[in-house]
Amino acid sequence: MDLELKDKRILVTGGSRGIGRGIVTTLASQGASVITCYAGSHDAAESLRAELAGYGDRHLVVQADVADRAAVARLVDVCAERFGGLDALVHNAGVISHIPFADLPEDEWERVLTTNLTSAYLLMRAALPLLGAGSSVVHVGSKVAMVGVPLRAHYTASKAGLIGLTRSMAKELGARGIRVNVVAPGPIETEAELPAEVLERYRRMIPLGRLGRADEIAGAVAFLASDLSSFVNGETLNVDGGI
Ligand code: NDP
Repeated sequence: MDLELKDKRILVTGGSRGIGRGIVTTLASQGASVITCYAGSHDAAESLRAELAGYGDRHLVVQADVADRAAVARLVDVCAERFGGLDALVHNAGVISHIPFADLPEDEWERVLTTNLTSAYLLMRAALPLLGAGSSVVHVGSKVAMVGVPLRAHYTASKAGLIGLTRSMAKELGARGIRVNVVAPGPIETEAELPAEVLERYRRMIPLGRLGRADEIAGAVAFLASDLSSFVNGETLNVDGGI
């Protein structure tokens, strides 16, 4: 199937591992030109570079901390220099921790909120001059944002914030022809390091009887980044097997 992504210029954050890697390789395999970033795992970045080389020489993998204003500005400058503009911005990078609220230190609250939510503000503000009519912004949120889950108050707050940001930006940027949406994954196989009983509980809760795969999140992102979704705006698309 032609997803109409050929020659689209796309920035994906956090593309070196997990879901982001699935997004980057799916978009590149569909003909898009991709710039992606990672925080610090150089080996994973190197292996992604090698994989992307199989999809042509227009892709780029750079180190950039999305929580750092100056690093985000440099990342967007790279997109401007290399691509001259962006057709889609996919903000996937995110961090999580599992801590009882009573023990949640302020610096951990700050780290998760800054990496998951403030980063979206930094990225969108920096990238706005590169986004023209017909372009698309996709935030990778989480199904738990609207459900809640113990030990993740900071994480769910950050992901719920992404939905509010998305709703408002969809309304503000719609007049410029820029769409803004959220993809909200349920439990994905990249969480496979979770304890066996947690994984089993997820499998029982998910009608499809299994965890999702990174490429299944990538499919939803590819749809929202493409012109196939040209009238979808301000939406949160849950990709969770019906949990
Ligand atoms: P991983 O931890 O597997 O990968 C995260 C990626 O983001 C890595 O490439 C990492 O780079 C990068 N990254 C992390 N912090 C930063 C930063 N500050 N600046 C730049 N890049 C960064 O995560 P997942 O694939 O599991 O999750 C991806 C997204 O999906 C996240 O937003 C997460 O909240 C969301 N999600 C995941 C679910 C799941 O089941 N896995 C479920 C619901 C939502 P490096 O390796 O260098 O640190």
